[in-house]
Amino acid sequence: MNRRKVLKNLGLLLGVTVAAPGQAFDLGKAVGAAQSMGKAATITDADLKRQFDQMTVQYDKKNTVAQADSPYAARLGTLTSGLAKYDGLNLNFKVYLTKDVNAFAMGNGTVRIYSGLMDLMTDDEIRYVIGHEIGHIKAGHSKARMKAALTTDAVRGAVAASDSKAAAVADSQIGELFQKVILAQHSQANENEADDYAMGFLKKTKHEPMAAVTALDKLTKLSGGSGGWLATHPAPAERAKRMRAKLA
Ligand SMILES: [Zn+2]
Repeated sequence: MNRRKVLKNLGLLLGVTVAAPGQAFDLGKAVGAAQSMGKAATITDADLKRQFDQMTVQYDKKNTVAQADSPYAARLGTLTSGLAKYDGLNLNFKVYLTKDVNAFAMGNGTVRIYSGLMDLMTDDEIRYVIGHEIGHIKAGHSKARMKAALTTDAVRGAVAASDSKAAAVADSQIGELFQKVILAQHSQANENEADDYAMGFLKKTKHEPMAAVTALDKLTKLSGGSGGWLATHPAPAERAKRMRAKLA
């Protein structure tokens, strides 16, 4: 099994679709720019945003986005009303139509919620997930990962090798970047930070903070507690306990 297939299967296992090769996502150019600048410290927020924007375009093409006439789009539209600009962030929300229970955010303000997660959860529980993903963006978790990925030797090596076998290697570069930036599991510290933000979000927007606990309880019961959102957002049982204690 080649690297691409491995990454693709891993993506399926996690409930996240890994993008196929494409020209829109120009990692080689980005890394080349990073190399010419010399070190990670010189990668600007604008550089990171450009990469996330391209990843967003790729992801949206590879998944089925709920259109305006979809009940899922209408429901998410209601739940995210007034959030296009929130807490100093520019946010954009869409639903991916799939049975997978998942959600993710990128450093450019992209938040994607899967319809499988929406089927499982109440409105306030979805608001918890939204608040949690906004928390990751606000704390810069995926930005830090992107910055690290754009400056690692592994990615640089893949880019160097891409001169001769452009298409095949370009695919593995994208898979690698998705793995490092989007599919990698968040640390417990990052999860707690995002959960705390979500709790504050629910209170601030006058919704039920206990929804954070019940959402995590549902995720714990789901298929033995692994896969989908759980693959990138670990230990829901412990997190539910922690959140429950905060509300006691
Ligand atoms: Zn998380």
